[in-house]
Amino acid sequence: MLNKLEAIREAGLARISEAGTLESLQEIRRELTGKKSELSDVLKSLGSLEAEMKKTVGMKANEIKNFFADKIEEREGEIVASASVIDGEIDLTLPGIPVAEGALHPITQMCYDLNDAFLSLGFEVYNEDDISSEMFAFDNLNFPADHPARQSMDTYWLEGTEDKSGAERLCLRPHLTGGSVRKLIMDGVPSRFIYPGRVYRNENTDARHERAFFQYEALIVDKDVTFSSGKVMINTILEKVFGRKINVRMREGFFPFTEPGYEIDMECLVCNGKGCRVCNQNGWIEVMPGGVINPNVVRAAGYDPDEYTGFYTNIGLDRLVMMRYGVDDVRFFHSADLRFLKQFK
Ligand SMILES: [Zn+2]
Repeated sequence: MLNKLEAIREAGLARISEAGTLESLQEIRRELTGKKSELSDVLKSLGSLEAEMKKTVGMKANEIKNFFADKIEEREGEIVASASVIDGEIDLTLPGIPVAEGALHPITQMCYDLNDAFLSLGFEVYNEDDISSEMFAFDNLNFPADHPARQSMDTYWLEGTEDKSGAERLCLRPHLTGGSVRKLIMDGVPSRFIYPGRVYRNENTDARHERAFFQYEALIVDKDVTFSSGKVMINTILEKVFGRKINVRMREGFFPFTEPGYEIDMECLVCNGKGCRVCNQNGWIEVMPGGVINPNVVRAAGYDPDEYTGFYTNIGLDRLVMMRYGVDDVRFFHSADLRFLKQFK
């Protein structure tokens, strides 16, 4: 009888070791330790044995039952550990399921790159509301009362406030510059910050103009900020964004809120300075007007222009994006045409 039990143990162990799946292991468990197993038959037959033998065989049979249970559990662990994550057959010839991937709009990407460049120079980011007022959009910025930009041909005035003036006459901000004074009033000087956002102009659209477009402005106000500090800042920012030295030139320009003001051009990267329709065939493109802050603006913010001065730069994001990718029509970037935008993923 004991020999028979040993034979059952041997055969059982061999079957457990060969089991390849959890299902077959379950089947083997039933066969080895279930009610109809050989082991059960042995236990059932104990009644016909002598007392001493009954005890010995009983103990042995139970020991084997426990032995099987341990070995099955062990094998189960091995099967689970070696099992592939993928259940069933794989057909490698089937086409895959494309993963829908979003991406940053190229203008947003440019904005982020500029943010990185400015933040590395110690600037902070400021956001202003899209709705501004005559006071912030014009009065504070030294715009004369008869400046054409104040007229409805350029600025979108809000219905119901047309007959009011100053802080009560509301408009969609025609430029970001008004926000700079708001920030200076709020947070004091010295200060250096960037304030990107969308601005609105009532203009005809063409290859370089849109009715609503992003602007990106930076202002630094401190004691002893000069024109040359501004020039170094512009060169540094363009170099950081484009990853190489960019040829820049500054021409005299006039803006009510600067004195002196500049038109800052960079060499056209669409044609590499040879001349194309983006740069009006002259090899240079205006990318950022700017200049030294006008003393009247410093006064409007509540500070003494003899003590504090500063430098404005308004960066044309659209133009920089056109330069970065060599795209010659700005309207593509606002078209929401995925066939175009997908190229910049
Ligand atoms: Zn060009």
